[in-house]
Amino acid sequence: MHELSIAMSILDIVKDYAEKENATEVTEIEIELGSLSGVVSESLVFALEMACKNTISEKAEIKIIEIKAEAKCKHCNQIFELENYFAPCPECKNSGYEVLRGKELQVKSLKIEQ
Ligand SMILES: [Zn+2]
Repeated sequence: MHELSIAMSILDIVKDYAEKENATEVTEIEIELGSLSGVVSESLVFALEMACKNTISEKAEIKIIEIKAEAKCKHCNQIFELENYFAPCPECKNSGYEVLRGKELQVKSLKIEQ
C-alpha cells in the first residue's frame, strides 16, 4: 500500500521532531497535500491512523490541507487551476505549462505536549 509507506515516512519526521523537542505526546499533525501528489487524503489519514498506533503520535489529530494544483501557461502566462497533468491551458488551449503548486506532500505543522 502506497499510502502506508508515505505515512511511515511522515511519522519518522514527526518522531524526530518530537524527540528533539522532548515531547511527551504529539497532539496534532497538519499535512499539506497537493492534488497532483497522487495520494488520496482519506487513504493517507487512514494509513496515518494505523501507523500512529503505539507511538508518541497515537492520539494526534490528523489534519489534511488540500492544495489545488495551479499552473502557469508557457504560451500566454495565464495562471490556471490544473485539473490533471493532461489538461491544456483554458485560455489559449495550448499544452505546455509550469506547475506552480499541487505536488505538495509534507508536514506543515505539529502540535506537541512537552
Ligand atoms: Zn495559455
